[in-house]
Amino acid sequence: MSEKVIQKNKMVDFLNELLKAYKVFAPVKRDHIVSFDAIQSSGEMLLNYLNSRIPPKEIFFPRSEKMFEYIRDDLIEVKEVLPSEERKVLFGIRPCDAKAILLLDKVFDSPDYQDPYYLRKRKETIFVGMGCDRPQSTCFCTSLGGAPFSEEGLDLLFTNIGDRFVVKGITEEGETLLEKYEQVFERAKKSDLDDKLNVEKEAVNRIKSKIALEKIEKRLDKMFEDSFWDRIYQKCLGCAVCTYLCPTCHCFDITDETMDTSGERFRAWDSCQFALFTLQASGHNPRMSGKERVRQRIMHKFNYFVKNYGEIACVGCGRCIKNCPVNFDIRQILLELVS
Ligand code: SF4
Ligand code: SF4
Repeated sequence: MSEKVIQKNKMVDFLNELLKAYKVFAPVKRDHIVSFDAIQSSGEMLLNYLNSRIPPKEIFFPRSEKMFEYIRDDLIEVKEVLPSEERKVLFGIRPCDAKAILLLDKVFDSPDYQDPYYLRKRKETIFVGMGCDRPQSTCFCTSLGGAPFSEEGLDLLFTNIGDRFVVKGITEEGETLLEKYEQVFERAKKSDLDDKLNVEKEAVNRIKSKIALEKIEKRLDKMFEDSFWDRIYQKCLGCAVCTYLCPTCHCFDITDETMDTSGERFRAWDSCQFALFTLQASGHNPRMSGKERVRQRIMHKFNYFVKNYGEIACVGCGRCIKNCPVNFDIRQILLELVS
C-alpha cells in the first residue's frame, strides 16, 4: 500500500474537496467539549487534539434516536424511521476508537441480529485515522493489542511529522482517495518515512501503563463470588460517566413518547452502572448494589464479551479513567486481577 505526504497548508484544500463528495465527520470543539460531528467547512475541524471526550461511536449509535412513529386507532399503524444511507468520511479518528467501532460491529452486525439503525449509518463510511503522536498518561491501548498508529479498522492513516503528514493508504478505499485527490499529495521521501517511524516509536514509548491481559478472562471465570468486588466498588458513585464515554459500551433503553393517539419510540444510551438498569417490575433488582454493577462492568468487558465475540471489549482509550469524578482507575483493577 502506498505512502504519500501532504503539507499541512494543503489540508484545507483536501477537506474542501472531500466535503464536495461526502458527508464529513471530524473532531470539533463545541461548548468546550471535543466530539465528532458533521462539518460544513474545513475550518471547523480540530487538527491538534489529544482525543475527543465523547467517542465517535455516536455517529453510528447516537445518544438518542427515533426508531419509529405510530398511530393508535382501532389498529396500530407503524411508520418506520430509518436513517438515510450516505457516503461518509470519518476524518481524524484515533486508532483506539477505530478498533472500538469494529467491536461494536460484532454486536450490531452479528449473524443473529443486524441492527438497521446502526448499519445504515455505518455502511459506506471511509475511516481516515489520525495516529496518536502524544498518547496521554491514561492511554493503555498497547495492553489490548492496539497501538497509537495501529491500522486496524482504518482506510487511511495520517502521521504528523511537523509541517506535513505522511498518509498511508491501507485499504482499496483509502488508495482510491489518494488517487482521486492526487493534486494535494506528494511522493513521500525516505526522510519523511524515517520521521514517521521515529514519531511512531516515540508514541509507543510514551505509553507507560502495561498490563498483561492474556489470562484475564480465565481469571474472571473464578471471581464472580469473590470478596474482591466488596472492596473495589465502594469508591464508585454510580454516575455512569465511564460507560457513557466508553467507545465500546453499547447498552440502550427504549421508551415511548405517546401523545394522545400517536407516539414515537426512541432508544437512548443506558448504563449498567444505574440501579434502574436491572430493576424489575416486581421491585426485585438482581444487581441491587454498586458491587454487582461494578462487577458487571468489568465482567462484561473482560469475560462475557470475550466468550461471546472472542475479544475484550476495551481498547484502552483511558476515557473512563480521565473523566471519572472519583478517579476510579480501571487499570488498577485489572492489575490486581492479573497479579
Ligand atoms: S465514572 Fe467513576 S464514579 Fe462514575 S460510575 Fe464510573 S467508576 Fe463509578
Ligand atoms: S473501559 Fe475505559 S479504557 Fe476501556 S475502552 Fe472503555 S472508556 Fe476506554
